[in-house]
Amino acid sequence: MTARICIVGAGPVGVVAAIACARKGLRVTLLESERATDHSPRAATTHPSTLEMLAELGLFEEFRSVGLVARHFQFWDGVTRTLIAEFDHDVLRDETPFPFVVQTEQHKLCEIALRRLSEMPEVEVRLGVNVVGLEQEAGIVRVITGDGEGGSFEYVVGCDGGRSTVRRCMAIDFEGYTWPERFLVLTSLFDFRTALGCCERSYISDPAEWTNLFKVMGDDLKGRWRAVYPARENESDEEAFSEAAVRRRLQKLHPDHPMELVVHRNIYRVHQRVARCFRKGRVFLAGDAAHVNNPVGGLGLNCGIHDAMELAETLHLVTAGREEVLDRYERRRRPLNIEYVQQQTVANKKRLEERDPKVREAHFDELRRTAADPALHRRFLMRTSLIESVRKAREIP
Ligand SMILES: Cc1cc2nc3c(=O)[nH]c(=O)nc-3n(C[C@H](O)[C@H](O)[C@H](O)COP(=O)(O)OP(=O)(O)OC[C@H]3O[C@@H](n4cnc5c(N)ncnc54)[C@H](O)[C@@H]3O)c2cc1C
Repeated sequence: MTARICIVGAGPVGVVAAIACARKGLRVTLLESERATDHSPRAATTHPSTLEMLAELGLFEEFRSVGLVARHFQFWDGVTRTLIAEFDHDVLRDETPFPFVVQTEQHKLCEIALRRLSEMPEVEVRLGVNVVGLEQEAGIVRVITGDGEGGSFEYVVGCDGGRSTVRRCMAIDFEGYTWPERFLVLTSLFDFRTALGCCERSYISDPAEWTNLFKVMGDDLKGRWRAVYPARENESDEEAFSEAAVRRRLQKLHPDHPMELVVHRNIYRVHQRVARCFRKGRVFLAGDAAHVNNPVGGLGLNCGIHDAMELAETLHLVTAGREEVLDRYERRRRPLNIEYVQQQTVANKKRLEERDPKVREAHFDELRRTAADPALHRRFLMRTSLIESVRKAREIP
């Protein structure tokens, strides 16, 4: 009899883990507390390394068809409104079949994957089921759900997000810190590319208030832009969402931005945290349940999808009798998250918000030098696209 795996949470990491496990012949039950996918604006940037994984699962074409291909990204000085550097993923064309990022909203990945899962007979998806507890006994994990109909499984994977119940049930510390300022996301139909001459993924450094500006297609595929800003430390939701504050922020980007083109406002807390361990007995953590970070650089979900793929391979080997690889998941995934996601996103945020004029100039010079030198340009993108981290993971025994 094949092993039974319970995946908790049908966010983007849980659905990818479910497909990856099912394709390896594991019997999967996916439990999700909500009845419908969350459409709030979150991850969109999907890097080449992750696109390779989506292609392996047969998801890439549909995923790309509802998003946009972004070959370049840019750094701007918001004070002088000048372009500092542009990076071109095409320099990676000998390294990956996908030398670009795809910007597709994460809820679309969930919905595509849930449709695929509904066609897989070995997978059971149960929506509206809240996991409230876990009990590990010899050889099994009992999953306790709000509806009293949990069940017993050989392995459980917590893909239940930053506030993970699975992590809490396992009493695993979530080490790190929370940034004092929240991040505000304003979604607009204004065409920033035409107005500013920027590309679909632009980072604007400004000591007074940085902006992360990028385009997604929206559900109507007509295109819309998200502008992400740091809120002031004591700024309330009402203040941040007020007409005056929204107008001030958007018109700082472009003075002609019309208010009627603003279609969504959202504000959220940002953390840098990593679970002390990624496995306890037969229970694993993946995605935001295992690590959270600020979104500058678009790395969190990408890293979560990499966790999901590693975990499917681990469970496949373990259930085939290779118990010795159980620990490899944490050995591979935890240090790489710290090195490639935590450190990089903190550095990305610092670069955008730097106040010291000399340090800002030094950052700009370094970006210009990196973009201008083909070898440095390629090395920079190998790192930011997480291709380097995937290759490094394979070398960890
Ligand atoms: C504004 C913003 C922009 C971002 N941009 C990017 C980006 O461009 N690129 C990138 O890589 N990352 C980005 N991120 C991060 C990304 O959104 C997260 O890393 C991603 O959502 C993690 O997916 P997940 O499946 O691990 O968790 P989640 O998306 O949080 O999903 C967890 C799921 O578990 C369910 N659940 C929770 N508790 C239970 C329970 N007890 N029982 C059953 N189900 C449960 C929830 O309902 C949910 O469906 C961004 C984040 C934000 C906030």
